[in-house]
Amino acid sequence: MKMRDIPTGRLVLALGLLAASLSVQAEPLRVVSSFSILNDMVKEIGGDKVMASSIVPVNGDAHSFEPRPSDAKTLANAQLLVINGLQFETWLPRLQQAAGYTGAQVVATDGITPLAFEGGQGAHADHADDKDHDHEHSHDHEHSHDHQHAHASQEEPAQGAHAHSHEHGSQDPHAWQSLGLAQIYVRNISKGLEQADPANAEYYQGRAKDYAQRLQELDDSIKTRLQAVPVENRKVITSHDAFSYMGKAYNIRFIPLVGVSSQAEPSARDIAQIIQQARSEKIKAIFVENTVSAKLVEQVARETGAKVGGTLYSDALGAAGSGVDTYLGMMRSNTDQLIQALQP
Ligand SMILES: [Zn+2]
Repeated sequence: MKMRDIPTGRLVLALGLLAASLSVQAEPLRVVSSFSILNDMVKEIGGDKVMASSIVPVNGDAHSFEPRPSDAKTLANAQLLVINGLQFETWLPRLQQAAGYTGAQVVATDGITPLAFEGGQGAHADHADDKDHDHEHSHDHEHSHDHQHAHASQEEPAQGAHAHSHEHGSQDPHAWQSLGLAQIYVRNISKGLEQADPANAEYYQGRAKDYAQRLQELDDSIKTRLQAVPVENRKVITSHDAFSYMGKAYNIRFIPLVGVSSQAEPSARDIAQIIQQARSEKIKAIFVENTVSAKLVEQVARETGAKVGGTLYSDALGAAGSGVDTYLGMMRSNTDQLIQALQP
């Protein structure tokens, strides 16, 4: 029987069924992550069973991010959304609403005990002129900050330390900067993938286990390598307060020029204080970040004689092929830069 002898309706039906059965087997799970670091973790764990994409692009600043209409389209089409949580993605509720996304969601920091945001280790404290700045503190940290300019909450003794217009709560969201905590991210993401796509659960579990092991190996090797750097040398200035988790893991003091969000503008007094601190503590290195303008860093470097140690990757991966286009590559690169700048 030739094709043209088959009644058209039946042929269309047969092709439709064939396509449907193929797509059940072959179509990867559509996973959207809020930013590039999570996106890389999803790719590592999901392998070829997922089609992963990121809303905030590589080298993008998640703090100042403004979603585009195309992001709403991407999210509307997702089967799973992976976010950091700890109020990192302040723009997300609006995007979810625009996309009408009510699907499954993984909060990668679930189960992590967050560090309190302490601000610039004294550098930002003691603002007499706090009222001139925008405050966006919320009393209710469970909810996203829809209301801007809420009043400062009373429970925060460190209030003056994180003044300015950052959009975060009192918890530091940058937990991925610890390779130990990143293993909790991996567990949460794997669980989310397993639930969204049970047919491939074992595949995800196997890859998650392998990936977590590679994270642990890098963590161990960083600890070994850092032994070459005396503890008293382990202090650096960075652009924004993104490295507290790394600092805690490896006993390095990171002194940020601005607060937990890259959006804050330090006052002239903040800068003067940091310059003074850098001189008195003989801080050797000051780092540019890939997501924050280098202007301020260069100014402080000029005035203190500290050398610009290079670029640290804080809140986003680098471009494809840069060597810092994976989370592991980024953590390796940050360590290389720090050791090079701090070793005697
Ligand atoms: Zn940040």
